[in-house]
Amino acid sequence: MFTLPESEGLQVLYGDYSVVMVLLSIVIACCASYTALSMNQRMQQNSFFHKSFWLVLASVAMGLGIWSMHFIGMSAFMLPVSMSYDLFLTIVSVFPAVFASYLAFYFANRKKKGHLPSIMAGLIMGVGISGMHYIGMAAMEMDVEYVYKPWILLASVVIAVVVSYVALFIFSTLQKYMGNQWIKVLTSVLMGLAITSMHYTGMAAVVFYTDNPIEHDLHGMHRMDMPLLVIVVTIGIFVLLAVSSLAGLLDRYVDYRLHHFDALTLLPNQRQFEQDLKNTRGTGSLAIIHLHDLEKWIGAYGYSFGDQVIKHAGDVLAGLKMNPSKIYRIEGNRFAVFHADERGSNVLKACMERVLAELKQPLLIDDYSVVIEMVCAVSHSDNSDRNRLLSNTMAVLQHSSIRYQHEVIEYDPSIHTYSFKKQIVQDIHLAIESNELFLVYQPKVWPETRNVTGVEALLRWDHPIHGLISPGVFIPMLEESGKIFEVTDWVIANVCRQVSRWLEEDVAFEQVSINIPGPYVTSSRLLSVLKEQLEKHEIDSRYIELEITETSVIHDIENAITAVGRFREMGLSVALDDFGTGLSSLSYLRKIPISTIKIDKTFVDGVPLSDKDSALLRAIITLCSSLKLKVVIEGVESQEQIDFIASIIETPHIQGYYFSPPLREGDFAHWLKERELVENV
Ligand code: C2E
Ligand code: CA
Ligand code: CA
Repeated sequence: MFTLPESEGLQVLYGDYSVVMVLLSIVIACCASYTALSMNQRMQQNSFFHKSFWLVLASVAMGLGIWSMHFIGMSAFMLPVSMSYDLFLTIVSVFPAVFASYLAFYFANRKKKGHLPSIMAGLIMGVGISGMHYIGMAAMEMDVEYVYKPWILLASVVIAVVVSYVALFIFSTLQKYMGNQWIKVLTSVLMGLAITSMHYTGMAAVVFYTDNPIEHDLHGMHRMDMPLLVIVVTIGIFVLLAVSSLAGLLDRYVDYRLHHFDALTLLPNQRQFEQDLKNTRGTGSLAIIHLHDLEKWIGAYGYSFGDQVIKHAGDVLAGLKMNPSKIYRIEGNRFAVFHADERGSNVLKACMERVLAELKQPLLIDDYSVVIEMVCAVSHSDNSDRNRLLSNTMAVLQHSSIRYQHEVIEYDPSIHTYSFKKQIVQDIHLAIESNELFLVYQPKVWPETRNVTGVEALLRWDHPIHGLISPGVFIPMLEESGKIFEVTDWVIANVCRQVSRWLEEDVAFEQVSINIPGPYVTSSRLLSVLKEQLEKHEIDSRYIELEITETSVIHDIENAITAVGRFREMGLSVALDDFGTGLSSLSYLRKIPISTIKIDKTFVDGVPLSDKDSALLRAIITLCSSLKLKVVIEGVESQEQIDFIASIIETPHIQGYYFSPPLREGDFAHWLKERELVENV
């Protein structure tokens, strides 16, 4: 195998390479590596397909790439002999490449980063590429014999291992930057070079010889070209690329459908509604239909009954022939219709009256005839202030005079604003006593390891008349009336109780953040409430973080600095919330001893589509990380936003719907457990 036989008349044959085919083989290896890396990336993301699907597809792409590179590389080599391939060995040779790719990617994708997993991955990949090559060589059938030069053979394997290691090390450590096309292309080229350099070094280790003298005539040279094989290989690669791009497209589409549409009515959901409200310009009218007593019907006849009611309402609304308008299911029992009309709300109102008249008819479901009560609120906005449009419409629904009698009620500023505010402020005491207030917790996640680094406690109010009222609506009202202090004390007490329970149950929440309203930051009462609750529940202050807003700091900067200093002395963390939204001077940032900075959602929304927004977010993150503070980025909703953020800062803490919306205490513990299960698969 390694020594030339000693015989007279033995003739050593020298081959030649077709440059075009050599280049083609390099391109194929790099393309296959790129495809495989893209699929590896998919594994890291939320996907409709299981992780193993992408791992297998990536391994098949890589394995086929190595295999095709080899045979195209062989057809680039010209010798003055005729040759063919043993079909069985040719097919068998693809397996080491696929298996090695599978194992190598498995190691490279492990959460634990470092040299050892990369060494394992590089070693396996290098051996796989070499195994494929030498089985492929054994598949050759020709009139001449060959031996290997052992040192060059060994060098070819070492090259494959070392370059694979470098490529996989870059891949696994720079995984978070793979959104950056240049780094991905560089890694793919390195991987492609690992494959091709092994192959061509391996070819340099072969000495072809024959006992039957052959005329060295270039015209008579038989290229080792296998037109059929090249065609099969090329088709194979294209099929694989097509399958993987289709799977990627399907994945994105399923993700979009899941997140933006309601599964029951197939109408766009609340998320899509919020996005559309934000992105559409010009005047328009909004109608919200609220179905009353749905829980009562579900309690009496079951969930599928409730589903049929909703479906019926959705179908009637979908039958609306009114352009340009869009219908959404924004909550369990609420639908919204947005109608872009400059002339006012009359058209939408008339249309809603027709809808309600139809929905008023008794509904026969499973032999039960019921009449579902409902009400519809309509409002119109002459400018592009969409938030105002929504809050006005909601104010109608939340008004105390509301009756669910199939009425369409139009927003009237003299009725709907004032009395609602007054009622909210009055009701808050009762709300605390009768357990209408509760807290939800939104996790902050470190995307690289996907570990939870803390949660933010957010207040919810389930009002007996108005239903769930958004904190964006009731907190400013309580702030205005000074009632927010009592509510904050209630939040602190409840968070401390929850922390002590989670500690007992071993729930990995890390730290809970509490929102502290502006004027309360500098009050001595806050400090004593905090001390009292921490002692009462016997918890360490490191489990609590206070979120204060920029606006509250800037109004009373000297006292705010002193207050924050005291909190820090107590061992509490302090975060500056909604950073960048207030009209503030940056000079206080150096003076105030905060531990965390929270970048507001408004800076994230346009990223990465808008270049201006991306540049602004980049500048803000760079500024914050230069201050050596923990940086939390709020309102992150997509993988593209995470990739963008990860390309700027190494350790961002991400809070947003991408990882999770705010969850009730039990749902949060459940969410944590489910993640552990998925991570351990
Ligand atoms: P915030 O402190 O800036 O809280 C973050 C808000 O952004 C929360 O809204 C959260 O649900 C929402 N959010 C988080 N991730 C995403 C995302 O990816 N997409 C979108 N569209 N939204 C996201 P929420 O719970 O409605 O609270 C609104 C505001 O009400 C809070 O803004 C805070 O200023 C105030 N608030 C809430 N709970 C409390 C509280 O207990 N005390 C005080 N004083 N204020 C509170
Ligand atoms: Ca906050
Ligand atoms: Ca915030």
